[in-house]
Amino acid sequence: MWIRRTPDEVFEVERRHDLSRFNPIATAAMAVALSLFFSIARWIGWRGKFAPSGDPIPMEEAFSGFPASCIVIFLIIYAYRVFFRDNPPCDGALICTTCFEAAGRYAPTKCGCGGSREPQYMWRWEEGRRLSSRSPRND
Ligand SMILES: [Zn+2]
Repeated sequence: MWIRRTPDEVFEVERRHDLSRFNPIATAAMAVALSLFFSIARWIGWRGKFAPSGDPIPMEEAFSGFPASCIVIFLIIYAYRVFFRDNPPCDGALICTTCFEAAGRYAPTKCGCGGSREPQYMWRWEEGRRLSSRSPRND
């Protein structure tokens, strides 16, 4: 059943989310993947959908800019994540406090059942406690 988190739990979720934007691993993986893509595209002479293909170039030449492009792409994405990342934790989903139906982050704050919707991170699912008749999946 869904249980509302205590204010301390909500604070902890928000704190962890706030700190996670400084984690460089996902950003580094994205930078390597993008740089690899661009280097391979240069290597095989692919210039995109709207430009004619060029001649393939030697691999050493195509990958000569790989480390620099990794660093530049990493810095751009990392700076974006640190300074402009969306603040709500999780995916920003909303949950109805009455029927517990989930909705997207841009759904109206009033549910069809008449209840109001809150950010889902303010709630947690606890398995095996079906004491409430308010749970939507009492079967
Ligand atoms: Zn509802």
